[in-house]
Amino acid sequence: MPDLKPMEPGVMFWAGRDDLSVVRSLGVRCGQLGLRGNTALTEAAAREWKAALDREAFTLVTVFAAYEGEDYADAPTVRRTVGFIPRETRAERERRTYEVSDFAARLGVGSIACHIGFVPEDPADADYAAVREMVRRVSDHAARHHQTFALETGQEPAEVLLRFIRDVDRPNLRINFDPANMVLYGTGDPIEALRVLAPLVVSVHAKDGDWPPKDVPGALGVERPLGKGAVGMERLVRALSEAGFRGPLNVEHETEDQEQRLREIRDGIDLLRKLIQT
Ligand code: MG
Repeated sequence: MPDLKPMEPGVMFWAGRDDLSVVRSLGVRCGQLGLRGNTALTEAAAREWKAALDREAFTLVTVFAAYEGEDYADAPTVRRTVGFIPRETRAERERRTYEVSDFAARLGVGSIACHIGFVPEDPADADYAAVREMVRRVSDHAARHHQTFALETGQEPAEVLLRFIRDVDRPNLRINFDPANMVLYGTGDPIEALRVLAPLVVSVHAKDGDWPPKDVPGALGVERPLGKGAVGMERLVRALSEAGFRGPLNVEHETEDQEQRLREIRDGIDLLRKLIQT
C-alpha cells in the first residue's frame, strides 16, 4: 500500500456501483468503500475486493455500512428509517454491522462507519439508552478487529454528538466528519462543529451542499458538487489543517447520472488538490 500524503484526496464509493478500476481512473489512491444493506458479504466477495485493492495499490481507509430500508427524502423520513434509531430494524442492523466489521477485517481495514441516525437529545429517552448500548456493543466488536467505529456527522449539532460519544465511553468510537451534512440538515456551521469534534475525527467526507429552504418544515438542503455549495472548501481545508488532521479527504458525491457524478467527483478532486497545495 502506498504511503498517503497528508489530506490526500480520496473517494467515497459503493460496492455494486463503482468498480475499483473506475475509482482508480479518477486519479486517487485511497478512499472509503460503502456497502449497501443488500450487498453480499461472502468470503468470495472479500477475496475479490482484497485482490482488487492489492492489484490497484489502493488504500481503503474505511468500510461504510448502509442498511436496507433507509430513505433520506426529508428529516422525518430520515428519523423514521436511518441507522440504529428505528426499533423494528435495530437487531437486524446490529447483526449487519458486525458482518460489515468482519468483512472490513478480511480486507485489512482499520475503521468502519455508518450513520446511526438522529441521536435523541434527551438522555432519558428510552431509544437513547438502547442506541447507546448498541453503539457500545458495535464498538466492542470493532475493537476485537482493532478497528475504530466512526459515526457520521450531520443529523445532530456537534455538542449533542460529542455528549453522546462521551456517554458511550469507548476508546475506539470516533467520528467521520461530513461538513455538508451539517449544512443539509441545518444543524450548524460545519467549521465551528469541526473545532468541537476535531480530536475525535478519524476520517472526512469532502462533500458540499446548500442549507435547507426556510419555508419548508422538515426539508433538507440539496447536495452540490464540491466547491458549489455553502460549506466553503477553502475554509474546510484550512480548518482541518489547523486541527492537525492528516488523513485523506474523501470526495463524496451522489447524483443519479453516473457519468455526471464521476465528472463532478473528478472536478472535486482537482479542487482539493489546488486547495491543499496553497
Ligand atoms: Mg457523508
